[in-house]
Amino acid sequence: MTPRLADRPSAPAADTPLMQQYRDIKARHPGAILFFRMGDFYEMFEDDAKLAARELGLTLTSRNNGGAAEVPLAGVPVKAATDYLRRLIAGGHKVAICEQVEDPKLAKGLVRREVVETVSPGAVLADDWLEQRRNNFLVAVDPRGSAAGVAALDLTTGELALEVVALADLASALARYEAPELVYPAGATVPVARDVPVARTEREAWEFDPALGREDLCRTFALAALDGLGIEPGDAPAIGAAGALLRYARELKPGGLPHLARPRVQRRGDTLPLDEMTRRNLELVEPLRAGATGTTLLEVIDRTRTPMGARLLRRWLLAPLVDPGAIGARLDAVQVCADDAPGRERLRDALDGVRDLERLAGRAALGRATPRDLGVLRDSIERLPDVRDALLGLGGRARSTLLEAASATYDPLQDLGALLARALVDRPPPQLGDGDAIRPGTDAALDELRDARDGGKRYIAGLQARERERTGIASLKVGFNRVFGYYIEITRTNRDRVPTDYERRQTLTGAERYVTPELREQEARVLGAEERIAAREVELVDTLRRAVADAIGRVQGLAATLAQVDVWAGLGDVAHRDGYVRPVVNDGFALELEASRHPVVERMMPRETFIPNDVALDAAGRVIVLTGPNMAGKSTVLRQVGLCVLLAQIGAFVPARRAVVGVVDRLFTRVGASDNLARGQSTFMVEMSETSAILHGATGRSLVLLDEIGRGTSTFDGVAIAWAVTEHLHNTVGCKTIFATHYHELTQLTEELAHARNWNVAVREAGDDVVFLHRLEPGGADRSYGIHVARLAGMPPTVVARSWEVLRVLEAGHHLAHRPAPPAPDATQLGLFAPPHPVVAALAGLDVDALTPLEALNRLAAWKRDLGKASS
Ligand code: ADP
Ligand code: MG
Repeated sequence: MTPRLADRPSAPAADTPLMQQYRDIKARHPGAILFFRMGDFYEMFEDDAKLAARELGLTLTSRNNGGAAEVPLAGVPVKAATDYLRRLIAGGHKVAICEQVEDPKLAKGLVRREVVETVSPGAVLADDWLEQRRNNFLVAVDPRGSAAGVAALDLTTGELALEVVALADLASALARYEAPELVYPAGATVPVARDVPVARTEREAWEFDPALGREDLCRTFALAALDGLGIEPGDAPAIGAAGALLRYARELKPGGLPHLARPRVQRRGDTLPLDEMTRRNLELVEPLRAGATGTTLLEVIDRTRTPMGARLLRRWLLAPLVDPGAIGARLDAVQVCADDAPGRERLRDALDGVRDLERLAGRAALGRATPRDLGVLRDSIERLPDVRDALLGLGGRARSTLLEAASATYDPLQDLGALLARALVDRPPPQLGDGDAIRPGTDAALDELRDARDGGKRYIAGLQARERERTGIASLKVGFNRVFGYYIEITRTNRDRVPTDYERRQTLTGAERYVTPELREQEARVLGAEERIAAREVELVDTLRRAVADAIGRVQGLAATLAQVDVWAGLGDVAHRDGYVRPVVNDGFALELEASRHPVVERMMPRETFIPNDVALDAAGRVIVLTGPNMAGKSTVLRQVGLCVLLAQIGAFVPARRAVVGVVDRLFTRVGASDNLARGQSTFMVEMSETSAILHGATGRSLVLLDEIGRGTSTFDGVAIAWAVTEHLHNTVGCKTIFATHYHELTQLTEELAHARNWNVAVREAGDDVVFLHRLEPGGADRSYGIHVARLAGMPPTVVARSWEVLRVLEAGHHLAHRPAPPAPDATQLGLFAPPHPVVAALAGLDVDALTPLEALNRLAAWKRDLGKASS
C-alpha cells in the first residue's frame, strides 16, 4: 500500500545509501529485529532500536541520515552480541543477523551485506543456550482440516517428526513437543495450553499445501515417492505442515539443512495423549512450583549418562505407549539391564564418556563446529567400541529383541573417528585462529607454512642477543605491537650508539623504536605465514566438517541407538536399586498394584518410611471413592496410581511389589481449585472446564484421577457436582476412576453405584490427636478430623475448643437438614439428599470466622425477609 502524500507529516528526507541498503534488507525480513553489522557493532535502527533499547536497556542514540532526518539507533558490540541475542530470543523475539559479506578494505563503495541467519526461539543453534537434556522443537501445525497436521523439527539434531492428530487431541500433542515456537497458517487458531510463552509465527496459508510439502520432501531426500518413508495418503495434513516448516527453516538458515534426518511418522493411537493439566499435576517433567527440585518423575527416573538418552527419556515420558507388545519389548530390554548389575555398570561407565554426538554432528554438518567441537566428537567416537563391547557383554541380552537389534546395527563410526584423530591436535582450540587445530604431519602445505613462521619467530627471538652484542647496548629490547609490528627499542641515552642500518619507526618519551631491513623481512615472513596458516586451517577444518556431514545419517543412527541403550540401562538401574518391579502389561481392563509406592514422595523421606499400599481397579470395582482427612495421604495414593501406570506404559518398571496394568488409552488428572494455586488461576471456572473436558474426552479404557474436584465452591455445590461427575463416569463412560475427597458425604455414592467402592486412608484417633497411618483400607471415612489437624498444626487451645463447640452446633443443623426421608422404593437418583431448606443450607455453609458482625446482621435480615416471602 502506498501511503497518500497527505498522510505524511513532512516529505521524507532522501536516504543515505547506507540507510537505503538497511531498508532494503529490513523489508525482506519483516517480523525480525535486524542486527546490521557495521564494523565491530551490530546496529539497530528505528523501531528495532527502540525495542532493543527497551528490552536490553541500551542507550538510544540517533544517526544523521543525509542531513535531514535523525534516525534512532542502538548498537551492541559484536564481541558481546551473543548475550544480547540470547536475551532477545528468550523474550520471544526473532533476530536476523546481517553481516558484511565482503572485506570493507576491498569494497568499492558500500560494503555488501546479507542476512546470514535468523535466530528465533525455535531455531537456536548455539549449543550453550539450550538445555542439553531436552529437545528444542520448532513445530508447524495446520489445524484447518478435519484433522490437524503437525510437523516438528529439532534444528540442533536434525530430527523431523510428522503426525496427524485429531483436533480434540491437538493441544495435548503440541504440549508433548514443548515447542518454544509454533508456526501456523495466518488466521488459524491453535490451542496452546502452556503457561510458558510460546513464540507464534504466522505463515501464508498456501505454504501448508500438501502437494508442495510432498515435492519438498521428495527433493530433500532424493526420492521419487514418499512411500519409502512410511508415509500414507492420510498423512497429507502433516506433509503440508512439513512443507511449511522446511520452507520457514530454510529461510531462517539460508545455509541449508544438510543434517535433516528422514521423518519419523507418528501414528494416531500409538501413544497416550496426555493433556497439559495431567502433565503438570503429576509433575512429570516440570515441577508445579517453578524452580522446585526433586519433585518431578523425570528427575527420579533419569539415570541416563548422555544428553541423547536424557532427551529420549523425556520424550518417552511425555508420549507413553498403548500397545502391550511394544511396551513389552522395552520392558525386556530394561529387564536385561536390571538383572545384570555388573554388565549394566560397565555399559553406563562406557556411555559416560560419550558427549552430545548428535548435536555436535549437527553443528559440524551446518558448518558451525569449532575445532574444539570436532575434538569432543573425536573423543566421543573413541568411546564407541567400549560401549559396543559392554552391550555385547550384557548377560541375557538375547532375551531382548531390541537389545539384539541395537548391537546388530551398532556402527562405531571408526573411519570417521580415525579421520578426526589423524587430523586434529590433542586439545583443539575453542575457536579457529586461537592456536593450531591441525596436527603436524597432516598437511604438507600447512607444515611448510608453520616452518616458515617458526623459523621467522626463532630468528626474531635470537635477534635481541645478537643486536646487544653488535651494538654493545645492554638495555636493547626486541618487542612487538599490533600497530607497528616488530621493533628494536633503544633508550634515549643510548641514541648515539644506534647503528646506521636502523630505521626509526616510533618515538616514545624515553626511547626510540627502530627496525632493520632484515627484521622487516623476517616479520613479513612470520605475518604472511600466519595469515596463510589461518586460511589453510579454515580449509582443513572445513574438510573435517564436510566429512562429518557426509556421515551424518550414520551418526544420527548411532546416536538413536545410544539414546535407547542409555535409557534402558538407566531404567534398569532405577529398577534394580530402588526396588521396582516389572509390570505385567496387557490389554485387559484391570489395574492391580500390590504394595505400590509414590516414586517421588518416597524419595523425599528416609528409606523404608513410605507406607506401601495396594490399589486395585477392575470391572467389578472400577470407581474408587477415596476418603480420609486432610493430610492422610489421598493425593499421594491418587498420583502414585497415575505415575505407576505411566511408568508401565513407557516400558519402565514400577515402584511396587507386583503390578498388573491393563493399558489405558488416556490418563486424566485434575486437582480441585484450591490445590491448584501454583497455576495462579485458582478459579472454580477453570476447575469446572477442565472437568468437563474429561467427561468429553474419557473412554471406557481411560484412567481418570480426580482430586478434590468440587472443592472450589460451597460445600453443597461441591458435593453435588462431585456426585454427578462420578455418577457420569461410572454409568456412562465406564472408565477406571479414583475420586479423592475429604467430603465424607460422598461415601454414600457407592450405595447407588454398583461398580464403585469406598476406600479410605486410615487414621487412628489417640485422645484429641490423630495419627496418620497412610494406609489404605476398604470402607469410607466417617469424619474429617479437620479440628484434630488444626490442633496438630498448633492452633491455640481456646480456638480448638471453640471449634468443637461450633462444630456441634453446625452438625446438629446439618443432620436436621440432611437426615433424608426414607427413599422411595423406586428412587433412581440422588435419593440421599432431600433438598435442605435454603436458609438452613446457607447457615450450614456459613464460615462464621470470616464474618464481620455487620455482615452477620445483614444475613440475618436477608433470611428473615426470605422466610417472610416463603410463608406469604
Ligand atoms: P491428603 O491429600 O489426604 O491431604 P497428601 O497425599 O497430600 O494427603 O499427603 C500428606 C503427606 O503425608 C504427604 O506430604 C506425605 O509426606 C505423607 N504421606 C502420604 N502418603 C504417605 C505414605 N504412603 N507413606 C508415608 N507418608 C505419606
Ligand atoms: Mg490432597
